[in-house]
Amino acid sequence: MGLRIGGHYVALDKHEAESDLNFVSHAHSDHISGIRKNKGTIASEITRALIESRGRRFAMAAALPGTRLLSAGHMLGSRQFYVESELSGYSVVYTGDYLMQKTYASEEIEIRKADILIIDSTYPNPNVVFDERSEVISAIQCYVKQKLNWGIVLFGAYSMGKAQELIKIFNEIGIAPVVDEKTGTVNRIYDSFGVRLDYEVAGTDAQPRGNFVGIVNVQKLTQEKLALQGRTGRRIFTAVATGWAKVVTFDTDVQFPLSDHADFRQSLQYIERCEPKIVYTVGQQAGMLAYNLNRAGYRASPFSDQALAEQAIRTISNKA
Ligand SMILES: [Zn+2]
Repeated sequence: MGLRIGGHYVALDKHEAESDLNFVSHAHSDHISGIRKNKGTIASEITRALIESRGRRFAMAAALPGTRLLSAGHMLGSRQFYVESELSGYSVVYTGDYLMQKTYASEEIEIRKADILIIDSTYPNPNVVFDERSEVISAIQCYVKQKLNWGIVLFGAYSMGKAQELIKIFNEIGIAPVVDEKTGTVNRIYDSFGVRLDYEVAGTDAQPRGNFVGIVNVQKLTQEKLALQGRTGRRIFTAVATGWAKVVTFDTDVQFPLSDHADFRQSLQYIERCEPKIVYTVGQQAGMLAYNLNRAGYRASPFSDQALAEQAIRTISNKA
C-alpha cells in the first residue's frame, strides 16, 4: 500500500519492496514494519523518538514538497499524510489510526478537505457506538476512588498512548499510578515533548505500603494480579480501558470503553469535514467499513491501487 508522488513511491505504514520512502503514521508496533536502513522515513519527531526508544534506529527523510503531516489525534506524535492537489492535480489524505476527540495526552486531530480520502477501518460496525469520552473518564475516576478503599486497582494497557492517557486521568483526581519500566521510558519521552505526567516506576521487589493504582501490560494483567496478591495478601481489582470493551468481554472485574480510535459514527464525522470525492478504506476491516459507508450513501471501496483511485477521480471530475 503506497502512493506515487513526484517521482517517489511512499509506503504507508507497511513494508513495500519497491518504495523508496516510508511513511510511519505513529509509533505502535503494527505500523512500523516499513522501516529500513536504506530508506528515508517520513514521521513526526515524537514518533521517531518513541520508536528509537525501543531500539530501532532509522534515517528521517526530508519533507516532500507538496505534502504535509496533519495531527491524527490517536496518540502523541500520530500523523496523517496529506498530499496537496498542486502536486498531482488532486489532493489525497491517508489517516492512519485516528481519533476525533482531543485526549489528555495527545494533540487534537487536524482535518483538511481532500479529493481522495484513505481512511482507517478499526471500528467499521455502525452498532459499535462509543459513549461520551468525558462520561467514560468520570466512570474510571469514580471506580478507582471507590476501589482504593478496598484494595489495589490494576489497569491493563499498552505502554504507548493508552498508559499515558490513563496516567493523566488518574492525575486529575490526585493519584500518581505505579507503572513498569517500559511505560516509564515512554513517559519520559512524552515529558520531553511537553506532556507532564505524575507517576512512580515500580521497583522489582518493593513491598507496597498501601493500596495503589497500577498500570501493567495488558497481556500480563492476570499474571501481575496473581503475583501481587501473593506478595501483599490484598484484594486486587482488574480493569481495562479500550474500545474493544464494546465488542468483547475481558477477563477483568470491569471494562471501560475508552478508545483511541474513531467508531463508525466518528468516521462519518471525519468524512463530512473532509468532503472527499471518493473514500478508500484500509486495515483489517476495510471491506466491512466500505460496505457500511456505501449503505450510508458514500462512494467507498477498499484501497487497492492508486491508479484506480486516479481513474475514479478523473471520471468523477469529468462528470461534475
Ligand atoms: Zn495505533
